[in-house]
Amino acid sequence: MPTASFETSFETLPSNQPMADEIRDNILKNPGFGRYFTDHMAHIRWTGDADWHGHQVRPYGPLTLDPAASVLHYGQEIFEGIKAYRHADGSIWTFRPEKNAERFRRSARRLALPELSDEDFIGSLKALLAQDHAWVPTPASASDECSLYLRPFMIASEAFLGVRPSQEVDYYVIASPAAAYFKGGVAPVSIWLSSNYKRAAPGGTGFAKCGGNYAASLAAQKEAEAHQCGQVAFLDAAENKWVEELGGMNLFFVFKDGRLVTPRLTDTILEGVTRNSVLTLAKDEGLTPEERAISIDEWREGAASGEITEVFACGTAAVITPVGELVSGNERIRLTADNNSNEVAMRIRTKLLDLQYGRSEDKYGWLTKLV
Ligand SMILES: *Cc1c(COP(=O)(O)O)cnc(C)c1O
Repeated sequence: MPTASFETSFETLPSNQPMADEIRDNILKNPGFGRYFTDHMAHIRWTGDADWHGHQVRPYGPLTLDPAASVLHYGQEIFEGIKAYRHADGSIWTFRPEKNAERFRRSARRLALPELSDEDFIGSLKALLAQDHAWVPTPASASDECSLYLRPFMIASEAFLGVRPSQEVDYYVIASPAAAYFKGGVAPVSIWLSSNYKRAAPGGTGFAKCGGNYAASLAAQKEAEAHQCGQVAFLDAAENKWVEELGGMNLFFVFKDGRLVTPRLTDTILEGVTRNSVLTLAKDEGLTPEERAISIDEWREGAASGEITEVFACGTAAVITPVGELVSGNERIRLTADNNSNEVAMRIRTKLLDLQYGRSEDKYGWLTKLV
């Protein structure tokens, strides 16, 4: 079912230099990820005494920030990631935006930023897409996973070097056309098991989607790349034993008997919208989802015995990515060749994509029309 329509009105200041159709169409043929941006951005301002105000869609361009703006010094910032999909009839939809809006408020509370309503969050996506709908690529076929990636974010912009929550905050949405995450088809990734670094600690910001978590993960990411791994898996900070997640994706383990296990949510794990959707779709696929603690020993032993048949990671950007092996300083945990078909991961992946692109019935009411 479509969700309620949001009537927040955004003032629109159209760009007088939009990208020429021909250049944009060329970009859309090969957009990569996060490299090109649309003609406009949405903006809402917050101040301690005037709440949220000044809703606008205006030309995309550099921000003017005071060098003392607190985001530049203390990292008071949060963000979201969500996609717009073009369906076969040309209409444009997004996936479970109310989940992202809710998470954005959770992140805001943790970072002492003001909360934004569903109405403003979803309204900002609609207002931006009303201008920039031509930037949503049209899939050439059912295997063409192109989309427009939307990046809402909120920054502390007050010019003040004292350490306290900013009394001036700006919320923006920018948009970037995206090709399929994997050129030439989905391929299992190698994951680096970080032993020098932790992503999150109890009481910290692990459950919030904030820039600081990513900044703190980059040294581990460099380490991963030096070992030919594309992503980093983090263990818990307290015991160095429990599998948590990757730098930007949640993890799932498929067991031979049909159980589908993912680490249960704690304040050190980010609740992915994809994770939540996979748990629901898994039941339709006859799997038994389990949210519980899973240790690195269980992963190692399960992979060796064949008890664990697949491991996959999931998130909005890459949808579902099979994990081929886990690499650490002194070992490689591989999934044995004969049961490493990634059949379950690929089946759920197709289910999810068919839903997002409007090729199957939206029986959970997960789609919201943007244009
Ligand atoms: C964004 C993110 C995810 C995935 O969330 P989705 O809503 O599925 O895109 C997982 N882990 C971390 C740390 C993230 O930042």
